[in-house]
Amino acid sequence: FNHELQRSEKMEIISELAASVAHEVRNPLQVTRGFLQLLQEKSANKEKEYLTLALKELDRASGIITDFLTFAKPELDHVQPLDLAEEFRHIEGILIPLANLQGSKIISTIPRGLYVQGNSSKFKQAFINIVKNSIEALQEEGRVRIWAYAENNEVVIHIQDNGEGMEPNVIARLGEPYFSNKTKGTGLGLMVTFRIIEAMRGKIQFKSQKGAGTEAIIRFPETNGHEP
Ligand code: ADP
Ligand code: MG
Repeated sequence: FNHELQRSEKMEIISELAASVAHEVRNPLQVTRGFLQLLQEKSANKEKEYLTLALKELDRASGIITDFLTFAKPELDHVQPLDLAEEFRHIEGILIPLANLQGSKIISTIPRGLYVQGNSSKFKQAFINIVKNSIEALQEEGRVRIWAYAENNEVVIHIQDNGEGMEPNVIARLGEPYFSNKTKGTGLGLMVTFRIIEAMRGKIQFKSQKGAGTEAIIRFPETNGHEP
């Protein structure tokens, strides 16, 4: 018992440290990227090649922060009833600009009064990773639909895109660390998502068809809006 207590204290310190490092490191990364990009545009040959590599590695570093620590906050393990509509309002606030940038849409209908038990920062991290994958899978005329409802004491959330879809062998590997089919991918997004959903006693399922799109279905035990 004593040993466990120490372990969870250590975990808390590590999480807090990671959160503040992520926060502090993101800005200098962006500034560095800007300058490197300027140099890269003006250079040629070997020099350009090196700078392109440097940019790629910087993008990988910020990708890791995004997949793990977008919403990392020091009050990390505070678990409370989360208002789904409220959580998704924040998630969309971050992701709608990303979708618009490539001419796609997020269409979301989350009714009021749906609650799940969890930590707000982690919940947002889990879902930003799913929705971001959907946006990244879209081509022209792309859209992501998000909806939710309660059913048999569970809250069910659907995230559906009409993007490129996946072959069965890709679906089977989702959540595996470093599994990515993207040039700028980390392959860590869904691993983080799966862990958070599991910790919340939830379940996630993917339906997908190559060329047609993907649907993630997530279920959590339903709770009411009152603090215990
Ligand atoms: P990353 O996004 O960094 O590649 P993820 O763990 O988030 O890592 O996703 C792993 C892989 O799963 C992606 O590279 C992609 O091939 C596939 N994938 C996940 N979500 C979708 C989706 N909505 N549509 C198509 N492919 C997807
Ligand atoms: Mg991802």
